[in-house]
Amino acid sequence: MFKNLINGDWVEAPGVTRNINPSDTRDLIGEYAKADAAQTKDAIAAAQAAFPAWSLSTPQQRFDILDAVGSEILARRNELGDLLAREEGKTLPEAIGEVARAGNIFKFFAGEALRPGGEVLPSVRPGVGVEITREPVGVVGIITPWNFPIAIPAWKIAPALAYGNCVVFKPAELVPGSAWALADILSRSGLPKGVFNLVMGPGSQVGATLLDDARIAAITFTGSVGTGKRVAAACVGRMAKFQLEMGGKNPMVVLDDADLGVAVNCAVQSGFFSTGQRCTASSRVIVTEGIHDRFVAAVVEKLRSLKVDDARKTGTDLGPVVDASQLAQNLKYVEIARGEGATLAYGGDALEHNADGQPGFYMRPALFTDTTAGMRINGEEVFGPVVSVLRAKNYDEALHLANDTPFGLAAGIATTSLKYATHFKRHSQAGMVMVNLPTAGVDYHVPFGGRKGSSYGPREQGRYAAEFYTTVKTAYTQA
Ligand code: NAD
Repeated sequence: MFKNLINGDWVEAPGVTRNINPSDTRDLIGEYAKADAAQTKDAIAAAQAAFPAWSLSTPQQRFDILDAVGSEILARRNELGDLLAREEGKTLPEAIGEVARAGNIFKFFAGEALRPGGEVLPSVRPGVGVEITREPVGVVGIITPWNFPIAIPAWKIAPALAYGNCVVFKPAELVPGSAWALADILSRSGLPKGVFNLVMGPGSQVGATLLDDARIAAITFTGSVGTGKRVAAACVGRMAKFQLEMGGKNPMVVLDDADLGVAVNCAVQSGFFSTGQRCTASSRVIVTEGIHDRFVAAVVEKLRSLKVDDARKTGTDLGPVVDASQLAQNLKYVEIARGEGATLAYGGDALEHNADGQPGFYMRPALFTDTTAGMRINGEEVFGPVVSVLRAKNYDEALHLANDTPFGLAAGIATTSLKYATHFKRHSQAGMVMVNLPTAGVDYHVPFGGRKGSSYGPREQGRYAAEFYTTVKTAYTQA
């Protein structure tokens, strides 16, 4: 059994989670510890005990540890990418790219440990000086989803440690392998005991315990809206700091003047790659009249050419859906869209096996046309390879439709017009806007996050991460 890491020791848990390969459900990747509330409390106690010393550790110590972690991740990117593809189902090149991103994030925050910033100002009173400094917040509870099993943990754990916090990390149950591998690297990095703890187990037990424990000063959460609301309610109730990154229904606008190849690439990349299981995926493509039919025909042609197969096989474009319940949800939405009168232009059916007869959660990507704004397929996040096309009369209507959603994570536009690109960047209500680029696929050194119902609290990643992982102190000195 792959154990939990508590106070520097690998410990057995009361239960076991079986990690299954979605590309071949006969393949058991391993058995992983499944903690309960009591074990979670042990981890919290260890982190709390480690905090006073770690909060005063030197920037050099933090730099050295985080930099070494980043180096090991990067050096092992192929092996860790293979594990990630095997447990989550994204293709091997995508998985290796995600691992590299995680390594680069650790290196970025190693550097940030050296430059926490601060300000020295004259007071408005004579002879008085004012210093503004940043201090760590305490023990941070980290709760992550299954779709980026190493990058999301990295972009929460690295800044937490860089700014001097201790961590209790609870990964998603579907992907304990990448979480364990990352914890293994951290356990050998020179971190003092208890600074970083891994507690694998169910959200209802491990996650809920983190939310309710007064020793956890801050919770950073990425996952669904429903769970995010629970996190918010629990944290507000006990005045803990929290940050939420949740769902999306991201629009990709395609204007008449777009380069057709660029538009098709943006839509297919961000709608279907990683099997559509990205919070930044564009699941609504809003297309103006003049290009609509050519665009739809080109997307369908492209979809026909995509190979749905084992995530680790060379040449696979789309791996399987992550598990049976996500596949059932995708198929349910295909039926809902049909029932609402949308036209299924391509795919949408489950494939029980790949070409080699491996049983897995395979699905042909689904493209719907003739959809309208009021349909559920355009209002609710599916989180699978299911994309709908909406027709717009002109740019103004396209912009209106793009913003006509309770979500606001990412938005894209394909256009050769500087005027529309500039207007869209300013008037999109999303936290991240892409021009002639897919909505999914972002840099690791700049802020990541959304607006409206997609996000709550300070941004993640880049230097803006300091807003969440530190608290500001203002100190006055009479000379
Ligand atoms: P989820 O909400 O089901 O689970 C997320 C995490 O919360 C898991 O670790 C889970 O075990 C835990 N959890 C569940 N119940 C809990 C509880 N009662 N208390 C505390 N923790 C609990 O989400 P998921 O299915 O793993 O991930 C998919 C969702 O994540 C999608 O909605 C997707 O859009 C979103 N997502 C958002 C971003 C972003 O940055 N905005 C990135 C990736 C994924």
